[in-house]
Amino acid sequence: MSRRSKSVESLAVTAARLADALEQDVRDFLVVRNHTLGDIEVQIERQSRELLRVAAEKAAQKKAEVTPPVCPVCHQPLSRLTGDHRRSFECRFGTITIGRSRGYCKRCRKWGFPADAVLGLEETAGYSPRVQEMAALLASKMPVSEASAVLEHLTGVTLPRATLDREARRQGERARQVRRQEDEQARNASAKSVQPEMVLEPYQMMIQMDAWNIRERDDWGKTKAMRQGGREPERWHWVYTGTCFRLDHRGKTGGGRPVISERGFVATREGIDALREQLHAEALRRGLGQAAGALVIGDGAVWIWRLADDRFKDARQRLDYYHAVQHLAAVGRALFGEDQARLKEWLRPLAQQLKNQSAIKVVHQLEDILAELPTGAPAEVVQREVHYFHEHQDRMDYRAGRRRGEPIGSGAIESTCRQAQCRFKRPGQYWSQRGDESLLCLETFWRNGRWHLLFPHNRQLDPSKT
Ligand SMILES: [Zn+2]
Repeated sequence: MSRRSKSVESLAVTAARLADALEQDVRDFLVVRNHTLGDIEVQIERQSRELLRVAAEKAAQKKAEVTPPVCPVCHQPLSRLTGDHRRSFECRFGTITIGRSRGYCKRCRKWGFPADAVLGLEETAGYSPRVQEMAALLASKMPVSEASAVLEHLTGVTLPRATLDREARRQGERARQVRRQEDEQARNASAKSVQPEMVLEPYQMMIQMDAWNIRERDDWGKTKAMRQGGREPERWHWVYTGTCFRLDHRGKTGGGRPVISERGFVATREGIDALREQLHAEALRRGLGQAAGALVIGDGAVWIWRLADDRFKDARQRLDYYHAVQHLAAVGRALFGEDQARLKEWLRPLAQQLKNQSAIKVVHQLEDILAELPTGAPAEVVQREVHYFHEHQDRMDYRAGRRRGEPIGSGAIESTCRQAQCRFKRPGQYWSQRGDESLLCLETFWRNGRWHLLFPHNRQLDPSKT
């Protein structure tokens, strides 16, 4: 039976034929000795696909037929209408073909297919919204070379590697547009809601930032010329990341710690200014405007504190405790060289003091050490570190932070970076700036629980999102 004639038969007939086939599969399963449940799962999946495909095709066709002949862009009635223009595309259950009408919009001076817009089919790509989503999700989670094979193995959807790559990047570009709109909305909403009598919620907003680098090849096609010129074509570029979350002291975990909620995540290849705007918008979405206070935690990198002064100027600032200890250890190495035992013996009480007492006490001890040292290399190191501690003196209120149950380190963003790096720093992977910004953007929509904004058919998975 041809595909066309199958699609006109009723679903009930196709379903009845499937039921017979499945009954037969069950009988066969009983007599084959070495087949597990896995075998019957694969068999049922394969058999059912045609029924699902026919149902999707029928739904798409009927929807096309009831779509009013108006311009998808300006909603004016179309003229010069002709019907039954056929189009085939991949959907979740295989290839489907529908006929739909085409008309001319005098206002837009363009031909259009109103049904395509209603069904969520892009003008050029031959994929259904669900398949577009699968390409986007897989490409943001694994190398495209694997994604294509994994997709086909798990779902039966065939998307060649190059096509999947192109589709994912297109979705990533779209995600970037949606992000721009969302960020603008967040800023506008917060500008409107500023009221002097606004009641503040009893939570603090935690904000952490970090950067890691990614390997990119940004001179495609010039490799040979560059090598001859003695330069390697690969480069490392910075990815800027930030995370924010609420720390709520009303609720307590079993361990007596404040409850973390509304965790958001941003990552960008487009520099510090882009991170600043994206992280600010994310913090606003997570409730920065209603927070009783905010705290920025980071390592010693100058850009972090500049960004904090610039965009989170009311927030308190805290230097990551573990970075501070590393700087104490640098002093220890200058004093004791490779003598690990003496270094540890010297470092431990100071690190404890820094955590549980006051930073000023620790700084004073370093100053005393410096005063005793003769001029030379060790003194230069200690001088530099004393300067570092002076610079960050007001960011080392670890005792107060611990009493309030706040983090004293930037572990949250560091673990976030590690996870992203696993994906983006595999050996042999090269990215272009535009390409990885798109994939990073998809990744942030997924992690932030806003995937449905890109692929609204997922609203059904979570009723709270409708
Ligand atoms: Zn129009």
